[in-house]
Amino acid sequence: MAGLLFVVSGPSAAGKGTVCKRVLAETDLELSVSATTRKPRPGEVHGREYYFMTEEEFVRTIEENGFVEHVHNFGCRYGTLVRDVEEKLSQGKDLILEIDVQGGYLVREKFPDCILIFLIPPTLTELEHRIRGRGTEDEASIRDRLLTAEREVECLKDYDYLVINDQLDAAVEDMKSVIRAEQCRVTKNKYDSTVQFFKESR
Ligand code: ADP
Ligand code: 5GP
Repeated sequence: MAGLLFVVSGPSAAGKGTVCKRVLAETDLELSVSATTRKPRPGEVHGREYYFMTEEEFVRTIEENGFVEHVHNFGCRYGTLVRDVEEKLSQGKDLILEIDVQGGYLVREKFPDCILIFLIPPTLTELEHRIRGRGTEDEASIRDRLLTAEREVECLKDYDYLVINDQLDAAVEDMKSVIRAEQCRVTKNKYDSTVQFFKESR
């Protein structure tokens, strides 16, 4: 049975990376590693946080239909790699994509059964505090990310679940609960295989 695809979106610095890292450590889900033309931040490792690509490599990957979706964000390119997603889903692994809302919409077009989870901090002031606290962006980029956040939050209406990342432990528990509920959902495939297994299990 193919795995489930969870898309986690929300403003930059909402805490997607932080929450997903904990969820990944505490469940058997896997993360799809995106490609980007952004420069690595201190501590980021090629193939772990992102596949860091040059503009030429990224464009070549587009031409080879190597992306499920790709977008332009804050002056850089970001994209979800087909090989990573399809390989893991076909092995029955449940997968998290940590991408922006534009990407979320594009993924839903290709994978209508994906589950869209929106993550936000409790306030815009807290978001600014987290962007500044991370210390990875210059002033122009901070302003850009805050303005983008105000637009992005309107997309919440198209998402399936909301997780408010105020206290980290609570946000991690909420995200794990959403995942567990979706894993327990009855689908046609699950119904067929379970009923057959149950009847033959005497
Ligand atoms: P994103 O992946 O959404 O861009 P990050 O995971 O990089 O966001 O988090 C942005 C900053 O906010 C980081 O410095 C992180 O340590 C901090 N952070 C994340 N979650 C919380 C939380 N619940 N409370 C306080 N700070 C947080
Ligand atoms: P950052 O530069 O802070 O790592 O990411 C900036 C934004 O790009 C975040 O909102 C992040 O979720 C998003 N992003 C990261 N990878 C992808 C991707 O593969 N596709 C899309 N659409 N957005 C992505």
